[in-house]
Amino acid sequence: MSIHIKKIGVIGAGQMGAGITHVCAAAGFTVYMLDVTDEALAKGLAKIESDMNRRISRQSMTEAQRDQSLKRITTGTDYKGFSDCDIVIEAASEDESVKKAILKTLCPVLKPNAVVASNTSSISITRLGAQTDRPGKFLGMHFMNPVPRMELVELIRGIATDEDTFETIRDLTRRLGKISVNAEDFPAFIVNRILLPMINEAVYTLYEGVGSVEAIDTAMRLGTHHPMGPLALADFIGLDTCLAVMHVLHDGLADTKYRPCPLLVKYVEAGWLGRKTGRGFYDYSTDVPVPTR
Ligand code: NAD
Repeated sequence: MSIHIKKIGVIGAGQMGAGITHVCAAAGFTVYMLDVTDEALAKGLAKIESDMNRRISRQSMTEAQRDQSLKRITTGTDYKGFSDCDIVIEAASEDESVKKAILKTLCPVLKPNAVVASNTSSISITRLGAQTDRPGKFLGMHFMNPVPRMELVELIRGIATDEDTFETIRDLTRRLGKISVNAEDFPAFIVNRILLPMINEAVYTLYEGVGSVEAIDTAMRLGTHHPMGPLALADFIGLDTCLAVMHVLHDGLADTKYRPCPLLVKYVEAGWLGRKTGRGFYDYSTDVPVPTR
């Protein structure tokens, strides 16, 4: 039986969790957003409000719509807030052990027919679904960053996902104003299977001294009409997330062509994760980002 979705839960208040909460609330759903600390929740809420204000200045939202949307959002660190949710979308850090622990804690508080989706960029949906008490009601719902602006959502069935669940979530995706494509449950699905090796190659290009940060990004923007260069995009995605996806491709497809670039590993080890930490391939401490190499 398909379910009627009224309340949506979101796990993680980072860039993706906040974006998903934004889009769900703006589409008229009640949302409960959870993170591990009150600080992370406050940061997520502040991001939602500033992103909505940006939409108002672009005239894609009114002040009244912003105020109504914000009223539909509650936040907390307690899983009990998910007990009346019809679907919960997991958007915590890209770490399989973190996601598995979350799913173990989440399932016992859920309604029996609630759907669980993961926004993972790369981890096997079948494997994550097997951690739940409802693999038939589990699937991948992969939003793009920034969520309010990007039209696409990749939908990924695990081997056990039932058709009804898939249709319910396809309909929800439409109601959120997004367009879905179906991807099979292979490492990193479609978008990141293609995008992340390109970003990794850009880091190799920098590592081998073929070009500077500025040369590489300018070359790809002007030479291929990409709106952002690959290194600026890596900083935007988060270098920890980029590295995690490369590990999943390397391990999952067992092909050396997916070997993460040692320079990407070094940046993550240094805590230079891109925009979210203020430094990656660019330094974001000034108004105009400055290349670091
Ligand atoms: P992020 O680092 O901005 O946010 C992650 C959030 O998860 C943080 O607020 C953190 O406190 C929280 N968190 C960590 N452990 C938690 C736990 N046990 N319980 C609850 N919350 C927890 O990361 P992000 O970019 O928002 O990525 C989140 C997910 O979305 C990842 O699976 C990532 O692969 C996926 N994703 C990212 C992008 C992107 O471009 N960044 C795009 C699509 C999908």
